[in-house]
Amino acid sequence: MNPLFADLPTTIFETMSSLAREHQAINLGQGFPDDPGPEDVRQKAADATLHGYNQYPSMMGIPDLREAIATHYGRFHGLSIDPQHETLVTSGATEALTAAILSIVRPGDEVVLFQPVYDSYLPMVRLAGGIPKLVTLKPPHWRFSAEDLDAVFTSRTRVVLLNTPLNPTGTVLPRESLELLASYCTRYDAVCISDEVWEHVVFEGHEHVPIMTIPGMRERTVKIGSAGKIFSLTGWKVGLVVAAPDLLRVVSKAHQFLTFTTPPNLQAAVAYGLAKPDAYFAAMRSGFQRSRDRLTKGLQALGFDVIPSQGTYFLNIDIAPLGEADDFAFCKRLVVEHGVAAIPVSAFYAESPVRNVVRLCFSKNDETLDAGLERLARALGK
Ligand code: PMP
Ligand code: GLN
Repeated sequence: MNPLFADLPTTIFETMSSLAREHQAINLGQGFPDDPGPEDVRQKAADATLHGYNQYPSMMGIPDLREAIATHYGRFHGLSIDPQHETLVTSGATEALTAAILSIVRPGDEVVLFQPVYDSYLPMVRLAGGIPKLVTLKPPHWRFSAEDLDAVFTSRTRVVLLNTPLNPTGTVLPRESLELLASYCTRYDAVCISDEVWEHVVFEGHEHVPIMTIPGMRERTVKIGSAGKIFSLTGWKVGLVVAAPDLLRVVSKAHQFLTFTTPPNLQAAVAYGLAKPDAYFAAMRSGFQRSRDRLTKGLQALGFDVIPSQGTYFLNIDIAPLGEADDFAFCKRLVVEHGVAAIPVSAFYAESPVRNVVRLCFSKNDETLDAGLERLARALGK
């Protein structure tokens, strides 16, 4: 068997959600909302299932959705996108990431990644034969400097894998950081695979800037979005890819043999959803911000040290002040003995992990958050 997969552990999300089910825990681990998602979007999917075309759509995506992707990013970020040559629909961002990595990284190419690193990236970089070059981000700011980039960029750098807003840290990269990274991409002639699945889940005081909008990056970025995150429907695996024609063409060659296409009923509903008025996106953000604040306040009242969240469904706590030195052991105990599932952030490190940070998901209704807080209080003996 291929040791790349044979030796891999099961993802931390599946591991923690299984433990949560087994121990009837409040699941603040894997990121998914309690809310069932916008009814009109779900109704569109139901209508398209009953009355629409349910055979193979084009491998590139249904024309309505490709148009909607171009219009959506024109509306939110001023990008001018040719739907016919610059958009691709995949089965989730996970597939888009895999297709982009497998099709762009050549054996021996160096790939710059930032850790904590979303768990699917490294195995796919290795599968492609790429050589990972890691920049380590540290709490509480999780930012990189020019010196960090100097240490990893070389003449062999081919690809940078970026994620902003960043899962698991909940940080949103400011424009200056993106400009700095862009200057390295242009100097070293690197392609940026930009995972922006959390683009709409960004809170007050922060703005998501697609790196594709930074001068010099339009032609060298593969921008990846996820309908699952845009519509709080994480089980809908519909990925949205935008790239210049030469890049998009090669990504689509990998996509054609990973999944080939994506259910047309879901694509039709996502096309409808992307055109929803600004008020939908604003209400989604403010709803999650309210939940973030509720969980943050509750945790602080219990004495937890909360690292603020700027975006995503996640906030992090520092467990060092509790005298805890191992986030895995802490999370295991929390779910088994106290019935609360969380995610140890060391799971997102390939080397020299931070061991004192634990990720909690707040995209939950008030009752779930309060029940989680009550159990955490008991865990602390309060
Ligand atoms: N990238 C990041 C950073 C994510 O957080 C997630 C899912 N939470 C994904 C990719 C996967 O998205 P999808 O479910 O659309 O495959
Ligand atoms: N991205 C989700 C999270 O961070 C999980 C996705 C998955 O389970 N693959 O919780």
